[in-house]
Amino acid sequence: MPKIPVCSPLLAGNELAYVTEAVSAGWISSAGKYVTEFENAFAAYCGVKHGIAVCNGTAALHLALAALGVGPGDEVIVPDFTMIASAFAVCYTGAKPVFVDADARTWNIDASRVEAKITSRTKALMPVHIFGNPCDMAALRQIAGRCSLAVLEDAAEAHGAEHAGLKTGKLGDLAAFSFFANKNITTGEGGMVVTDDEELARRCRRHKNLCFPLDAPRTYLHDAVGFNYRMSNLHAALGLAQTERADHYRKLRMSHGLLYRELLFSVPGVVLQEEQPEGTSVFWMNGLCVRREEYGHGRDELVAHLADKGVETRLFFNGMHRQPALRKFGCDCSGEYPASDFLADNGFYLPSGSGLEEADIRMICACIRDFGRD
Ligand SMILES: *Cc1c(COP(=O)(O)O)cnc(C)c1O
Repeated sequence: MPKIPVCSPLLAGNELAYVTEAVSAGWISSAGKYVTEFENAFAAYCGVKHGIAVCNGTAALHLALAALGVGPGDEVIVPDFTMIASAFAVCYTGAKPVFVDADARTWNIDASRVEAKITSRTKALMPVHIFGNPCDMAALRQIAGRCSLAVLEDAAEAHGAEHAGLKTGKLGDLAAFSFFANKNITTGEGGMVVTDDEELARRCRRHKNLCFPLDAPRTYLHDAVGFNYRMSNLHAALGLAQTERADHYRKLRMSHGLLYRELLFSVPGVVLQEEQPEGTSVFWMNGLCVRREEYGHGRDELVAHLADKGVETRLFFNGMHRQPALRKFGCDCSGEYPASDFLADNGFYLPSGSGLEEADIRMICACIRDFGRD
């Protein structure tokens, strides 16, 4: 057991009370008041009209793509540097994910490289707010408008982050969130699609429940292939309690992120993620990259050194163009992705859970500083 885990959830509000209430009342499936209450509360938190709770963030992405009508023969632009679920969700629809390199400063999709990847088959852009840092949404929305593309935010890591004063969830046509145990707001396993668009919301509601008709009486005749992506009332009970304290968790993550930056930005050879001028990150995970020549050690040596000190870390994901599964699926994995490769080969993230202690952050940063040039 590491002394400082990379992430553990804080469940200090009404979580236990609400789950207990759901169990006592016998409402443990997807019927029950917490699902609707959580959907309404979380959508309101994002500043959007509709929330559709589902069983995980990957399902939320798939459901949103299905609602947009994305299917075989289509292409969806995704960042090369992201978690695999962003690309897999596109594959589930039969469409192909098309990769765009990262911006070396923000680590998000490089908006200046998007247009070169758009073809007559492109249906949608899927920006991912990596590690809680919002993308350059003004530039991406402009491209989407010019090329008549839908915008689906993969906001799985960015609950409460903002761009130009608007929260994630309100920055595209739809957004998908994850509530996995390590995310800023969690239900253990869970996800949600949010949107201001009534029709897209209806399609999500219908498709998440096997395409049972929404308002008509049940005839047990289905006019389209749907999914069972329902969230249980037990998970929604956790989600409502978490959403009640969303601002509290957001403040904790942000203060940890800012302290890490203050203590690390001047360490030679340590590269940190930068925010967009109009963006406010919620620092889901505090990552760093190591430039061996300047730091004096490579990434893997630093990770091993931190492990010796009881500090748990995680390596960054590998880029999509390196994924055997996506190559087998027929994605174009040729081309150069230097920024994404640099991140994958030199990056890792530090303990970042909401419950982290300030003293631990100071100890971790002192370790990193002292080991450099050692
Ligand atoms: C966590 C995550 C997902 C998937 O969410 P799950 O709830 O684990 O299915 C999708 N995209 C990104 C960027 C994520 O970090």
